[in-house]
Amino acid sequence: MTDDAELVIAGGGLNGMLLAVACAGAGLSTIVIDRQDPAAMTGDRFDGRTSAIAYGSRLVFDGIGLWPAIEGEAESIREIRVADDGSPLFLHYDHRELAPGTTTNIPLGYIVENRVLRRALFDQAATFPSLRLFAPRAVASMDASEGGATVSLADGSRLRTRLVAAADGQNSPLRRAAGIRTVEWRYSQTGIVTTVAHQRPHRGVAVEHFLPAGPFAILPMTGNRSSIVWTEQADLAPRLLALPDAEFAAELRARFGDFLGEVAPVGPRWSYPLALMQAERYVARRLALVGEAAHVIHPIAGQGLNIGIRDIAALAEIIIDARRLGLDIGDPPLLERYERWRRADALLLAAVTDGLNRLFSNTIPPVKLARDFGLAAVNRLPPLKRLLMQHAMGVLGDRPRLARGQPL
Ligand SMILES: Cc1cc2nc3c(=O)[nH]c(=O)nc-3n(C[C@H](O)[C@H](O)[C@H](O)COP(=O)(O)OP(=O)(O)OC[C@H]3O[C@@H](n4cnc5c(N)ncnc54)[C@H](O)[C@@H]3O)c2cc1C
Repeated sequence: MTDDAELVIAGGGLNGMLLAVACAGAGLSTIVIDRQDPAAMTGDRFDGRTSAIAYGSRLVFDGIGLWPAIEGEAESIREIRVADDGSPLFLHYDHRELAPGTTTNIPLGYIVENRVLRRALFDQAATFPSLRLFAPRAVASMDASEGGATVSLADGSRLRTRLVAAADGQNSPLRRAAGIRTVEWRYSQTGIVTTVAHQRPHRGVAVEHFLPAGPFAILPMTGNRSSIVWTEQADLAPRLLALPDAEFAAELRARFGDFLGEVAPVGPRWSYPLALMQAERYVARRLALVGEAAHVIHPIAGQGLNIGIRDIAALAEIIIDARRLGLDIGDPPLLERYERWRRADALLLAAVTDGLNRLFSNTIPPVKLARDFGLAAVNRLPPLKRLLMQHAMGVLGDRPRLARGQPL
């Protein structure tokens, strides 16, 4: 029996589409299936988030030729200021400290609206004859054997393939069906997301204020705009979200401060429940989990999508290299290599983001004092600061070719 495609991807979110574009761009016949309508997914009202794209993730976009479609709508992050509520001590990351004494002008990362990323991915996907998008259609189940895999859709149709990638998000139906267990919990926090316009330019400075309910992040967007990720207690968030415009603006200003002059919310308010999830395995027979199907972390460090992008860079390299050697891309040793490559990075970031969230949401005075001295101490240690910056930029460790900006 012939395959309908070499790779079938369940889920056309940012991670699923990125994997599709990377693999189809290297000649692999690929099908992406998403239960939502692409017209809705690329519309303005679909996802209010912006993503902090680490410099290493920008290199992945470079490697698959997608960056030119994003660059014009991406704002560079040149500095990050981290401050604890009411404390004079702070931590300041500056891109100029990455390579002191040189004229290097590499930013720490970029802020890009998710809708910009989504549209760039869908547009690029439409240019590859080897890539087909089945949407809106839902994946119902999959069966795998030594000889191949069959994906069954909710409408009764079936697709034969070598490998299935589950990019079907946090509640991944394919992960559950494969019996892969998870470690997970919900934070008693909600992420409120909105955009503000301000009087003065942000000059590429991202700010993270740690407030008792959680971090309040101000992320520079193009123009005199910033994206707000306001972490609030889950029981209080619905009341804030339901406030009339003027009262919501007043609550926001009380947290934002006046360092950028007059501030006004523009555009809708969005909310996202926050959770941590780690799948115990990232692979099963002819199945690889990517992005939030494999791991979900707190948005405190803006790294969730970046870990997914690194999953894609690793899996795409393994698949394409195997195919060039004439191997079966669903072979267990290849999938095990993918899991080994990706697990430590995702676990480390889950632990770091969870630890930071707990540490900074703690109002016990000695804990607050200790963490403020910790911030100030890191601030005075340039080599440690540089290492932390490079880690957040995703430019350390055993990086796949795409994450070094090279093509597959
Ligand atoms: C408030 C907030 C701020 C964030 N900020 C950042 C940031 O600054 N930087 C960063 O790196 N990350 C950030 N993140 C994380 C990032 O947004 C996510 O990691 C990322 O969007 C996950 O993408 P995904 O493609 O893995 O999953 P999803 O976006 O959940 O996509 C899954 C897709 O699968 C489809 N699907 C599900 N089941 C089926 C099925 N049975 N059949 C067919 N299709 C199916 C769904 O329709 C969906 O399109 C943030 C997260 C939050 C909550």
